[in-house]
Amino acid sequence: MLPFTGWEIVTVLGVVFALFLGHFLVIAGAFYGGFWIWGRKRLAARRIQQQPLRVARPLRELAFSVLSIGLFSVMLAGLWALDRFGLTAVYWQVSEFGWIWFLLSIGIMALVHDSYYYWAHRFMHHPRVFRRVHKLHHGFHNPTPFASYAFHPLEAVIEVAWILPLALVMPIHPGALACYVVFLTVLNVISHLGYETYPSWVARWFITSTHHNLHHTRGRGHFMLYFNIWDRLMGTNAHDYEAMVEEINQRARKERLAHADLQTPSTAGVLQGVAAVRLQ
Ligand SMILES: [Zn+2]
Ligand SMILES: [Zn+2]
Repeated sequence: MLPFTGWEIVTVLGVVFALFLGHFLVIAGAFYGGFWIWGRKRLAARRIQQQPLRVARPLRELAFSVLSIGLFSVMLAGLWALDRFGLTAVYWQVSEFGWIWFLLSIGIMALVHDSYYYWAHRFMHHPRVFRRVHKLHHGFHNPTPFASYAFHPLEAVIEVAWILPLALVMPIHPGALACYVVFLTVLNVISHLGYETYPSWVARWFITSTHHNLHHTRGRGHFMLYFNIWDRLMGTNAHDYEAMVEEINQRARKERLAHADLQTPSTAGVLQGVAAVRLQ
């Protein structure tokens, strides 16, 4: 006898899928609209690939992201089913462990996922695995926010596999997991944004859009998700990465100054105007 009905598991699957897809569409859509549509000319200086070799394919990216989100939802519904069997450390009342643990657990999930991702990503770059699985994500040389979850189905399963063993041993509240997923989506969307938005100092320790964009264009190195630690330790960080972020920030600064010059009349211009009025 199962500890849940067929209707319950279908409802859980439907709710998880709707929430996952809904928040992804809102976040990726907002960044795409803000940068790729509204900012196409206004933020052109912040564009990482100034002369992209390939065109962006947001609709194809979106189709694969929806497929991956379907698979993530199946795995999360599976986690719910395991919990019904009493096999997980998942808890449902925040008061059981308190708010400090609730917040701390989100940070721990980020750290565990970050390290897991580095090694899983390196595994996916093994020539045999790459050809069959990871090549699909790398087909998007000029990624947009919709590429954030655009994976081969096998890769989608590998991407979220870390949560299952963790949830067996670490108390995780479903609300904390939901917060973590939103955090993951925002940072993943920024990684696939195609525009650099961070100040240069961030590049030293954290993954920026430039960091992951270089991974898509060059197809080697830069395997991390949030922190630029394993890439540094393992020698997989490109030597010109920080300089590239600085170059984009300088380009944006020059563009801003040039724009400000056009908007504000220079002192010489004002004096010439005053002189012209006097002569009349
Ligand atoms: Zn890769
Ligand atoms: Zn990517």
